[in-house]
Amino acid sequence: MYCNKCGSYIPSKRTVCSNCGTPVPDPSAPAPAPVVETQPEKRPNGIAIAGLVMGILTIVFCWVPGLPVLTGLLGLIFSIAGIAKKNSRAKGAAVTGLILSIAGTILSIFVMGAILVPQVNKYMAKAEEAKSYLQTMETSGTD
Ligand SMILES: [Zn+2]
Repeated sequence: MYCNKCGSYIPSKRTVCSNCGTPVPDPSAPAPAPVVETQPEKRPNGIAIAGLVMGILTIVFCWVPGLPVLTGLLGLIFSIAGIAKKNSRAKGAAVTGLILSIAGTILSIFVMGAILVPQVNKYMAKAEEAKSYLQTMETSGTD
């Protein structure tokens, strides 16, 4: 018979082509099992997990001034990278991370508003008080 690969003549008793080393198919051997179409390997998506962790941190620490800006931004970046990654096992985690990052950032804005607005109002009221006080001093002084 002749080699499938290089076409060299192979004596019938040989099992391997002497020219290229290709194994000779044995006609008496059972047909090889059909190659099962395997799913592309799904690797754990570390960046998606990082996005999820950042999203959780953004929610948990939404009351800390400044921190949600950092964790929210990182969560957003990691989550989008995790979603964009192909064959990702943790795509769900990345989507969750994205939602938590956005929600946490929005929440932190409300929390900061709730803390800051009364402070600002208090300050404005004091400033107004001081202004009117100075005005009365001014008018009484010139009189
Ligand atoms: Zn050969």
